[in-house]
Amino acid sequence: MDLDRAPKVGFVSLGCPKALVDSERILTRLRAEGYEISPSYDAADVVVVNTCGFIDAAIDESLDAIGEALEKNGRVIVTGCLGARPERILARHPRVLKVTGPHAYEDVMHAVHEHVPPRHDPFLDLLPPPGIRLTPRHYAYLKISEGCNNRCSFCIIPSMRGRLASRPIDAVLREAERLVAAGVKELLVISQDTSAYGADLHYRSATWRDGEYQTRFIDLARGLGALGAWVRLHYVYPYPHVDAVIPLLAQRRVLPYLDVPFQHGSPSVLMRMRRPAHAEDTLARIRSWRAQCPDLVIRSTFIVGFPGETEAEFGELLDWLDAAQLDRVGCFKYSPVEGARANALPDHVPAPLQEERYARFMEKASAISAARLKRRVGSRMRVLVDSVEGGSAIARSEADAPEIDGVVRIKSARGLQAGDWADVKIVSADAYDLGGRLLH
Ligand code: SF4
Repeated sequence: MDLDRAPKVGFVSLGCPKALVDSERILTRLRAEGYEISPSYDAADVVVVNTCGFIDAAIDESLDAIGEALEKNGRVIVTGCLGARPERILARHPRVLKVTGPHAYEDVMHAVHEHVPPRHDPFLDLLPPPGIRLTPRHYAYLKISEGCNNRCSFCIIPSMRGRLASRPIDAVLREAERLVAAGVKELLVISQDTSAYGADLHYRSATWRDGEYQTRFIDLARGLGALGAWVRLHYVYPYPHVDAVIPLLAQRRVLPYLDVPFQHGSPSVLMRMRRPAHAEDTLARIRSWRAQCPDLVIRSTFIVGFPGETEAEFGELLDWLDAAQLDRVGCFKYSPVEGARANALPDHVPAPLQEERYARFMEKASAISAARLKRRVGSRMRVLVDSVEGGSAIARSEADAPEIDGVVRIKSARGLQAGDWADVKIVSADAYDLGGRLLH
């Protein structure tokens, strides 16, 4: 290695937004220590692959990415969720230099130091305040905790990532403050179970901006709501204590948007899934939320074809969806994950029937989405521009989280650039997206 130049690290980041935050933290550390991030395999002295191990398809993608990095560079360090199962990686790729598990920032840094020592330069040891983010400059994911205390039968995250470990409220609020000061306009709060935030710390108090905040969901929303950015709450379970946040949504201190992973509408399926809050009357809760905050947008994900799902239970899900009228809906066909308890449940639903139920579910969900979006035609709204190409802009409203929801397309977007706010009149709608005309 040429010691006159900064050592270079290639980085491949796979997986969900939570994994992206892990990647950002590692990149921040690397840059702070004087490493350069290499955009190509060729120029890198070592490649770090941050893997995902959530479902079998993600595991295959991760193993392929490791293979590609080995072939093109040869010096590879693996981290992330799949790293919790090193035997699986080493069986296929025995040449990797090191395998570390999820959130093992220190181990990744040790491995990088061992194989590509940092160049000593005290000026480069300073941590650049906002870190190096992989998301566009105007929005950032804010990870408030790791792990999960729930035991959903289809999920192996608790065994891979451990029990809930919340970050203290003052650390989270300070990070959010730095991000906003660095130009971030939208904060996306993520965790495995946002409403459980702080339970492991017994809701410990801390001081931030001369105020007293507890490490708990409602105080988190209160603190973030004081920053003047869009704050979007993801992975909120419908526990009764979530009701307390609705007034903050209604006042637009945080966005009137909740991502609530309901997963099913049939109590018996939810019981077999061992979902948290499965005994709650979720329809009553949604009705009450909307009564207090009529603009509330609810997004959710569902699993169809869970083991033992009968036609009657699937019908309950469709009826539930009809009644709930959710704005944004994602759907997965159940697929077994190695190590999950649901694998042992009887009566797995055959693939063609899963396919058929998926199609019926999506037909209903997209009809609901289309009807709800149609009601917005003629209204005016403020949007955040994500990208501009060929004079047209792709933007998002309060109702759209990046990557998972719809967009607002603006045809004549003169003078706009990514990260700008724009005021638009909605002129068209389809099943998922809106068309807007720039005002003034
Ligand atoms: S809440 Fe359930 S699905 Fe989500 S991470 Fe925890 S165990 Fe997995």
